[in-house]
Amino acid sequence: MHHSHTRSHVPDPAAGSETITLERRVLAKNEALAERNRTWLADRGVVAVNMMSSPGAGKTTLLERTIRGLAGTRPVAVVEGDQETLLDAQRIKRAGCAVVQVNTGAGCHLDAGMMADALTDLAPAPGTLVLVENVGNLVCPALFDLGESSKVVVISVTEGTDKPLKYPYMFAAADLVVINKTDLLPHVDFDVERCEEYARSVNPGLRLLSVSATTGDGMDAWYDWVARQYD
Ligand code: MG
Ligand code: ZN
Repeated sequence: MHHSHTRSHVPDPAAGSETITLERRVLAKNEALAERNRTWLADRGVVAVNMMSSPGAGKTTLLERTIRGLAGTRPVAVVEGDQETLLDAQRIKRAGCAVVQVNTGAGCHLDAGMMADALTDLAPAPGTLVLVENVGNLVCPALFDLGESSKVVVISVTEGTDKPLKYPYMFAAADLVVINKTDLLPHVDFDVERCEEYARSVNPGLRLLSVSATTGDGMDAWYDWVARQYD
């Protein structure tokens, strides 16, 4: 995917020390804003889940299903940062949910400043679940803490089993991995157990769930995990 501002935040051994200093400054500023968001969320008993994936892993479909599945149990709101399609925010709205679309421009990740603005716009009621659909890419979103309660990586069985080895930073940062599109398993060459082994080789304590957001299979375990984020 096109990373228009890669040089500003992805460490590049070929880059000069000036670039690396800028990188550090950008990340330090982000950390400070993320801490503010974390306090803001905790003060309101709001849980924010940062959902990250490659394009096409089915984040929006998982969100739609979750919004409908949790209806009547707790308020749910969405921060929509994925610009894979501009229709994502409309899909979320149709699912019956408050949504704020973040304009990242050509940006390839959400940052804590965007998250702060989105939270101000959403003004979530106490106890709300805020689902954040990050921009579809498994590289720089791992570097930018949003102050979220937890980080979830969504991968689909149409991707390579070795995704965790190709994107170790993302999987090391994750609290949970959701393996999506399990309804397609009979048609693809994806090894769930091996993928779990790879993921745990970079993050031994990692939790993994397998779901089909299309059929609803496995969604109860996901809802249980969400509920536990309030403990
Ligand atoms: Mg999407
Ligand atoms: Zn980026």
